[in-house]
Amino acid sequence: MTEHTKTDGLPGMDMPVPASREDHAVAKPAKIECNACPVLCQISDGRTGACDRYANRDGVLVRVDPVVLLRRELSSASPALVPFDRPAAETADGIDPDWNGDLLHSDEVFVTGVGSSTTYPDYKPAPFIVASKARGVDMITVVTEGIFSYCSLKVKIDTDRFLGAEQANVRYRGEVVGHVTTAEYGSQMLSLGGVHHLTGGSKKEGRMTVELMQLLGNKKPVECTIDGGASMVIQAGKAPIVNGVEEQRMRVGCGSAAVGIFARQFASVADEVVVVDDHITGVLTEHQAGKCLDMPKSGVQMRGRKSTPGRYFQVANPGNGWGGTDIDDPLSIIEGWEAGVAKPGLRLLMTSTTGEHAQWYVLDDALRPVEQPMPSEVRRIVERIGENCEPSLCTVLFLGGAGGSLRAGVTENPVLLTRAIKQALVNVTCGGAPAYVWPGGGITVMADVMRMPDNSFGTVPTPAIVAPIEFSMRRDDYAALGGHMDSIFSLEQALARGAWQDDGAPLARQWLAIDEANPWPLGQPPMLG
Ligand code: SF4
Repeated sequence: MTEHTKTDGLPGMDMPVPASREDHAVAKPAKIECNACPVLCQISDGRTGACDRYANRDGVLVRVDPVVLLRRELSSASPALVPFDRPAAETADGIDPDWNGDLLHSDEVFVTGVGSSTTYPDYKPAPFIVASKARGVDMITVVTEGIFSYCSLKVKIDTDRFLGAEQANVRYRGEVVGHVTTAEYGSQMLSLGGVHHLTGGSKKEGRMTVELMQLLGNKKPVECTIDGGASMVIQAGKAPIVNGVEEQRMRVGCGSAAVGIFARQFASVADEVVVVDDHITGVLTEHQAGKCLDMPKSGVQMRGRKSTPGRYFQVANPGNGWGGTDIDDPLSIIEGWEAGVAKPGLRLLMTSTTGEHAQWYVLDDALRPVEQPMPSEVRRIVERIGENCEPSLCTVLFLGGAGGSLRAGVTENPVLLTRAIKQALVNVTCGGAPAYVWPGGGITVMADVMRMPDNSFGTVPTPAIVAPIEFSMRRDDYAALGGHMDSIFSLEQALARGAWQDDGAPLARQWLAIDEANPWPLGQPPMLG
């Protein structure tokens, strides 16, 4: 069980107190109740609720952010922000309509869940159920902002540095918000957030978890520490900063792979090459690649556990030194040289898997490696290792379980939505970004936050994450899965008026160009597992 901050009972609700029946009886008319999440804020005129997403504007509950609409190309002179024609919105007079009723136009517009408002408390259809056409086919897109208690971030940090042991706690502002999971090639994976940290610990743990998730989801930097490991700054799409040092290169492969990839080049300039790596250190003349190139054995004797010829595990401890080990002197992983095999004058290159560390030695008469200036032809190969390293990045994937309540906004028979998704009839997107749907039960989706519009994520203080989600499908399929057909708006209506309901609806729409990396969400096959 993951460690949590100790609590003496249920997580505290550090949030506005819901109105009691008595409060209702004496409630001043100037306050209105927001029921877009279980907190039920009482909001005075001109003020916002606890999450800053809903406000009381002239006695009307409104969603304060605009709903984000994507266009395939944003080359026209459309104003970035356009008010809807609805109560509490600014007047739309004087703004040229940026839609003209042309059905073909609907091939170019996609309503995202960002700013769309929610289905909570789950008795009502999604705020936008939009009819449009894609290549002449009648389509429906069901659009909502999901409130996710079951959600986490999977973070990939491209680095060789030791960040922390597998299963070690990750802390944000002192609270445990996740843990280290597996190392992958050139990267360390973290799992941050999740329902246990959101709901299973103290109120501070939940609050810090949701804050971290919102910041990371919105592509902002956060500073975390790992118990027994590194401190780091993570930001989606940016290089990680580990213990104050910005990471530059993602390794070209493990030590064994680096030996193999560059073996032919090494063989012409060195008698032995050791590629130092915390996981798999490669030794060229013992490695199959060296054998295939008819390289004679050098007689080098390595520390660590020999796995297969030329491949050594555990040559040193993990750390921030050469190849993700804790060593600064690469010779410390060499135990000795086999007499009669090693020869004076033997030329030895030692390098890390990124080429950031590299040294050149020649054995003296006593078979001791003596550091020498690196010949230019060797330097060129080391530089080529560096050239083949990709830039280090942090990648943040949002992983959320779209459960019963959210599905009820789509259909009166939620399991049919799940089945339709599994049958690849429904394209699921998050803010227009393609979402990978996990195999197995339920609707568990995963999306790269870098492909989502900026500031796609919000929070509510229950605590939970608010994230956009859209389900696009043919109209016939929507009818077949028990969709809320009476709540369908044409795209033109949605562009003019916004959501179908007035209670807590957005007042304006914002135009964005779709991220170039994303396929157009309509008329696309879904990304299924
Ligand atoms: S959605 Fe926001 S404003 Fe509405 S009740 Fe919840 S916290 Fe309050």
